[in-house]
Amino acid sequence: MGIIIQKFGGTSVGTGERLRQVAAIIQNTLHQNPVIAVVSAMSGTVKTEGTTSLLLEAARAAAAGEPFDEAIDRVERQHLLALDRAVESPELETDLIAFVQNELLRLRTFLEAIQVIREISPRSMDIVMATGERLSSRLLAGVLEDCGTPTDWLDLTHAVPEQETQVDPPFFRRLQQRLAEQCRPRNGRVPIISGFFGLVPGGLLAAVGRGYTDFTTALITAGLGKGVAEEMQVWKEVDGIYTADPRKVPTARVLRCITPAEAAELTYFGSEVLHPFTMERVTNAEVPIRIKNTFSPESPGTLIVQRPAGEKRGPVTAVTSKRGITTFTIQSHRMVNAYGFMAGVFGVLQRHGVVVDLISTSEVSVSCTVIDKASLLRAKADLEQLGKVSIESGRAILSVVGEGMKYTPGTAGKMFSALGAVNVNLEMITQGSSEINISCVVREEDTEIGLRAIHAQFMERE
Ligand code: ASP
Ligand code: MG
Repeated sequence: MGIIIQKFGGTSVGTGERLRQVAAIIQNTLHQNPVIAVVSAMSGTVKTEGTTSLLLEAARAAAAGEPFDEAIDRVERQHLLALDRAVESPELETDLIAFVQNELLRLRTFLEAIQVIREISPRSMDIVMATGERLSSRLLAGVLEDCGTPTDWLDLTHAVPEQETQVDPPFFRRLQQRLAEQCRPRNGRVPIISGFFGLVPGGLLAAVGRGYTDFTTALITAGLGKGVAEEMQVWKEVDGIYTADPRKVPTARVLRCITPAEAAELTYFGSEVLHPFTMERVTNAEVPIRIKNTFSPESPGTLIVQRPAGEKRGPVTAVTSKRGITTFTIQSHRMVNAYGFMAGVFGVLQRHGVVVDLISTSEVSVSCTVIDKASLLRAKADLEQLGKVSIESGRAILSVVGEGMKYTPGTAGKMFSALGAVNVNLEMITQGSSEINISCVVREEDTEIGLRAIHAQFMERE
């Protein structure tokens, strides 16, 4: 049987009880398949209070010359409490307590040095962040040992070779081979992997960003490749990917299946599914991804996999929304029969580091959406050289996503009339050329009513 690579999110390993639940999930899987488990830093349900956030807060405080102890004390308390609850063997518990205290003592010493020099390099930041995954994975390995399952604990803090200096596609290809080789199960033991890889040139936060454990898991999975890896599983605190965010749309339901392209669109347009780099890497390797719920392991979850050709489906698979959007429009009369206007606009955006999501053009204007309003304001004066600029904030993007709409005429029309029927005004409309996403910009206060209307239109009429 192929290896199942299981990623456990921070909430899934957030307490002692949860660590034991995760151990049971791994043991259950082991009846059928070899397992590699990759673990994120411990967290509650609120990510901003999770270990990684506390560590980043401590690092920033230290670099500013401020006290950082409180954040590290919290991390220490959470881990000691969890292991007290999760581990029965007194010897093992003593070992683990010593491990946690030793790690955090080293971290405190390191942060003290940073407090003195008042500066933190990306490499030092990586070292601080790595502590979170090192602690959680070591704890999970201990809990499994406590339950009688032999493990190999593997820390990836120094997984990137010193001679690597540039983060580019060949870097990740080399790295995935290396990680797969290191993480393979050996001698019947379950590898428990810290879901962090370092020390990345320029820092992991810049190269990958938060949520890097998904990507670590993806690298290992893709490195093992089809045939060796049977499935990558992402264990979270939800039942899977929904037709819409269930907090906003009470009638939303879990999808049994979704294609990688659809899941990627949902990620870019507001649904927190997986780290955006993850999907492509794993599905290119032709390994399916399954999202599962740690708190309800019997639920089937959602499988991310290519749909067999010819399978019949509705046009829309899911709907999503993204708030906090700012739009800008530049109007130029010179655009008629002129060339170079677009290049001018995008040149300015590039110079100021403005990231745009949606773009819509007419002969005399171009409109774009951005998330980072501050970067747009920095670019404003330069944009004004090119035409009349208007900026609107407090907007949201509503999107419908589905591969089925390629073959179904009328999807856009239905979306717009559903929104019209609840008096939601559309300010900008775009359709990706891949024809699996139609998006529009609305006022932020219309997000939920709009989302419910399009969900009702497409998902509640079968
Ligand atoms: N713990 C890290 C974060 O919060 C990585 C992860 O959870 O994937 O960003
Ligand atoms: Mg105990």
